[in-house]
Amino acid sequence: MSVRVVARIRPLLSKEMDKDIIVHAGSTDDGKPSTLVRIPSPKNEAEEFTFAFNSVYDMSTTQEELFTAEVAPHLKSLFQGLDVTIFAYGVTGTGKTHTMRGGLKLAERGVIPRLLSGVYRRAKKIAKDSNGETTVSVALSYYEIYNDKVFDLFEPPEIRTPSGLPLREAYGKTVVVGLSERPCEDLKDFERLYIEANNNRVTAATKLNAHSSRSHAILRVKVTQTTENQTLESIASAIDLAGSEDNRRTDNGKERLVESAAINKSLFVLSQCIDAISRGDRRIPFRESKMTRILSLGQNNGITIMILNLAPIRSYHLDTLSSLNVSSRAKRI
Ligand code: ADP
Ligand code: MG
Repeated sequence: MSVRVVARIRPLLSKEMDKDIIVHAGSTDDGKPSTLVRIPSPKNEAEEFTFAFNSVYDMSTTQEELFTAEVAPHLKSLFQGLDVTIFAYGVTGTGKTHTMRGGLKLAERGVIPRLLSGVYRRAKKIAKDSNGETTVSVALSYYEIYNDKVFDLFEPPEIRTPSGLPLREAYGKTVVVGLSERPCEDLKDFERLYIEANNNRVTAATKLNAHSSRSHAILRVKVTQTTENQTLESIASAIDLAGSEDNRRTDNGKERLVESAAINKSLFVLSQCIDAISRGDRRIPFRESKMTRILSLGQNNGITIMILNLAPIRSYHLDTLSSLNVSSRAKRI
């Protein structure tokens, strides 16, 4: 079981060009890749806080660079039967969705489409190298957790039950009862399913007068390799988390407070799990939230990657500090 915690600082948006940049990537040694994030103290600008990560990606990092450095190296492990779990953590507006989903243009595609593309490329090679004796199939599940309830994103929002899908324990695993699984043969299939499901997510949030940044979106890619007498199954999960902003500071109505309590709890449990995994602790509190329970976080011999998304400017100062505090606790210095 291994975990990497990395930070990514997004560039200024066009409407932010006149803003001060207060978050910087740094390294302990000139010329070495960055592993530090530097940010001033909000009380005393002359004082600087430093947080350590496994890697820090600055404003100039492209989608391809991030994928190549942090995700591509684990594709091999995935096909060896290990599970790979990738989280995007951070305040709303810092680039979580950009990192995971990305834009439509080829160069702007995020971790998820690149992951699928990598999976199909490898699957083809395996089939070819084995003269067709090994077949690889890919199936997707995609769900969101909103207010601690699980909803299938492949189902149209009209047929959602308000209480969400129940969980059940089976053979030591937690399954979401009724969660659909779609076979997904190639990238075209994937794009169609992914767009449809993301539309469902937005529609569902709009109906609740909410925003999709208030829910966790979890894509599960099941890879099954079959030979005449053997089956090997592994799971890649990619999670676009709900915004980690501190909602006590904004004036929110009752609905938003209920949402916030659910979000805070699940992000807290997640950070505790990452912390425990990185310490090599065998007691990982994954049962304490629905998301970590469904993911069985830290229960298999897999790889977990947490990407902390950061905005570089002052208007995010306090939120940036609190998310840095959460995730650098996860990384032992
Ligand atoms: P979040 O999902 O965390 O709320 P988004 O992914 O929606 O944040 O990003 C907020 C805005 O910043 C979007 O307009 C997005 O396109 C832009 N953005 C985020 N990261 C980058 C990046 N690395 N390069 C260019 N634009 C980015
Ligand atoms: Mg988002």
